[in-house]
Amino acid sequence: MEHPENSTEYAGLQVNAGVAQPAIVNPYLSSMRKKRHKLFTAGEYVEGILKGDVSMLSQAVTLIESVHPDHQVLAQEVIEKCLPYSGNSVRIGISGVPGAGKSTSIDAFGVHLLNNYGGKLAVLAIDPSSEKTKGSILGDKTRMEKLAVHPKSFIRPSPTAGSLGGVARKTRETIILCEAAGYNHIFVETVGVGQSETACHSMVDFFLLIQLAGTGDELQGIKRGIMEIADGIVINKADGENVEKAKLAASHFRNALHLFPMPESGVMPQVLCYSGFYELGIDEVLKMIFDHIGKVKESGYFQYKRNEQSKYWMYESINEHLKNNFYYNKTIKELIKPMEDDVLGGKITSFVAAKKLLDEYYSMLK
Ligand code: GDP
Repeated sequence: MEHPENSTEYAGLQVNAGVAQPAIVNPYLSSMRKKRHKLFTAGEYVEGILKGDVSMLSQAVTLIESVHPDHQVLAQEVIEKCLPYSGNSVRIGISGVPGAGKSTSIDAFGVHLLNNYGGKLAVLAIDPSSEKTKGSILGDKTRMEKLAVHPKSFIRPSPTAGSLGGVARKTRETIILCEAAGYNHIFVETVGVGQSETACHSMVDFFLLIQLAGTGDELQGIKRGIMEIADGIVINKADGENVEKAKLAASHFRNALHLFPMPESGVMPQVLCYSGFYELGIDEVLKMIFDHIGKVKESGYFQYKRNEQSKYWMYESINEHLKNNFYYNKTIKELIKPMEDDVLGGKITSFVAAKKLLDEYYSMLK
């Protein structure tokens, strides 16, 4: 249509007809992208993974994260086939509140580990908040600049879909694939808030807690029961003027640790100061971790804990499956909202409502 301002009333002003905008994505590239998402057979994925093919590993992890039922079936087949090749790694959980310096530290620990201890390193994450923000925050490659370009590293952000239990299960399954692909060191990063730490703790051999000096967090950590699950506590940012404060915080933590019973592992957690940014004290932290692993392997606690974790995940999977089966049931989905309204309206008690729904569900199972 001719622009109204091209009428003679607006002499001297010429508005050209618009030009169609080119596609944002190069059509050639988008066809390439479609090709990349081609599904392989479970055997092909496993073959690629066992060869250490990073692209195949990434695509298999994408299958694990997918909510598509066909993808899930395929993913389970891949996981099952990878299981015999898994388990041969040291799994390290790294936790700290936002700003504690997790990504800076993982970058420093990771590069130091690969350069001095060899092997391969996978960095995974459990970040339940990513469900809300629709973008995973932890494990983002751009946050770990040196590690991201290291040929022996594999970095994967947190899965985004589902409940914390679901996100954690996917991370645990990803560990299996990474181990089958030859990653003998696994870092699992998690935010130091809420339940995600417990979930992370249930899949790692060593749980490292990153703390800062002088934030008042020292006490909070103790309150929240975090101290009981930490195998080692490290005070980051021990650089410049902060060194003395960090040392003081470390001694507070050491004192506090004496108030707790000896951990189940039989190894007293150590408290160290370091600087992730200036790369000071990094080797001491890694040594602390590997000393601990050596001790628990010798005592048999390492294997005991892994067995306990497998048991835990069996029950977790059953719980999750049962819950999903109930909540995604078509009839239950229809009944649940009116029932909730009745509870809110005081027409029925919560317990009676729950029983009615469960009875309805059980009657469908018969
Ligand atoms: P995250 O949210 O726990 O992943 O924390 P980041 O690694 O993103 O770090 C948060 C901020 O602290 C950034 O501005 C870092 O540069 C800074 N930081 C991290 N480690 C150190 C350190 O060892 N010393 C100092 N001075 N700053 C650090």
